[in-house]
Amino acid sequence: MARIIDTPLIAGDGGSCDPRTVHGAWGALDAAAQRGLAHTHAVQAATDHLYEKVKHVIPAIEWPAYAPLIAAINEMKRAKNAVILAHNYMTSEIFYCVGDFRGDSLQLAREAAETGAEIIVQAGVHFMAETSKCLAPEKTVLIPDTRAGCSLAASITGADVRLIKARYPGVPVVTYVNTSAEVKAESDVCCTSSNAAAVVEWAARTWNSDRVICIPDEYLAKNVAAQTGVKIIAWHGRCEVHERFTAEDIAEMREAHPGLVVLAHPECPPDVMAASDFAGSTAALQDYVTEKRPGKVVLLTECSMSDNVAATAPDTDFIRPCNLCPHMKRITLEGIYDALREMKHEVTIPEDVRVRAKRAIDAMLALPKEKPRAFEVGRPEVAVELV
Ligand code: SF4
Repeated sequence: MARIIDTPLIAGDGGSCDPRTVHGAWGALDAAAQRGLAHTHAVQAATDHLYEKVKHVIPAIEWPAYAPLIAAINEMKRAKNAVILAHNYMTSEIFYCVGDFRGDSLQLAREAAETGAEIIVQAGVHFMAETSKCLAPEKTVLIPDTRAGCSLAASITGADVRLIKARYPGVPVVTYVNTSAEVKAESDVCCTSSNAAAVVEWAARTWNSDRVICIPDEYLAKNVAAQTGVKIIAWHGRCEVHERFTAEDIAEMREAHPGLVVLAHPECPPDVMAASDFAGSTAALQDYVTEKRPGKVVLLTECSMSDNVAATAPDTDFIRPCNLCPHMKRITLEGIYDALREMKHEVTIPEDVRVRAKRAIDAMLALPKEKPRAFEVGRPEVAVELV
């Protein structure tokens, strides 16, 4: 059975390492009771098979706190023809027990475009819900908590992109999906961490340019520059979760856990990527663990990802640094229940912005579908031009 080993080597901002204990089984129990939901025999019958998926991370004694909300949400989804898109950073009771589609931003964007459901509940952050709305304007898109933002998305505005374009006329703009619709609307093509290097190379070829504007994540841009040989113009946005990892942390973890395999997300700083064994998007990290079955691994990304990958890798021990995304953790079972029940927190986008943002997303989705591309670790750092 996979073991999760919390390690205090890296300080998160929440104190506790376990997102379920931050909100807590008690919180879920309270929330269910306030909504008149209890752990009945019917709830048990409807949810026992779901517990099998999360028993590695939720103690049996806590399950009756979550099960009533899970049963009620799944029932409402059926009644309302709704689906839940669950990002890899959701806690396991959301990811495995109410999520209909699970994955990284790119996978969820594709599902949003193709689902036949009338309602999409985005179990993720606001820019993801906007992406779903861009791709599926005829559907009602709900976000369970409107405060679920993102430090990268907040780092840049559409006006900033217009200024950048004015400074570098004719240079293609590749925008990470972790941005607002307004920013995507000013862009030529979007990318995710699964395809960033491929999209940058494609943009350079298509625009016949030796330079590409790659915004807003400074570290992702630097990591892409090292992979591609394309000159990169970057913005100074950072992911507040991934920027906290350091190469010193990795050295300490390797010393404390001999044989540890270190997997990094490309939103991490370049020296962290260089000190890792493998780097790639959340989908690439999941694939690595599935295929290579390392004995002991650490994922340098958001904390809940380890729980979710551990469910698929029973023989791997997970060392889990405590970096939680405070925005992702705003999404809770009761938030999902309330949004769906009251049809609240609908995401809307002005039509002219939506159409232009969709063009940039579609340009990405039109590129050949390929396996998430790993970042080759150990390549020399390449300077980028920071705007
Ligand atoms: S983990 Fe980082 S990039 Fe992802 S939503 Fe949180 S702040 Fe944004």
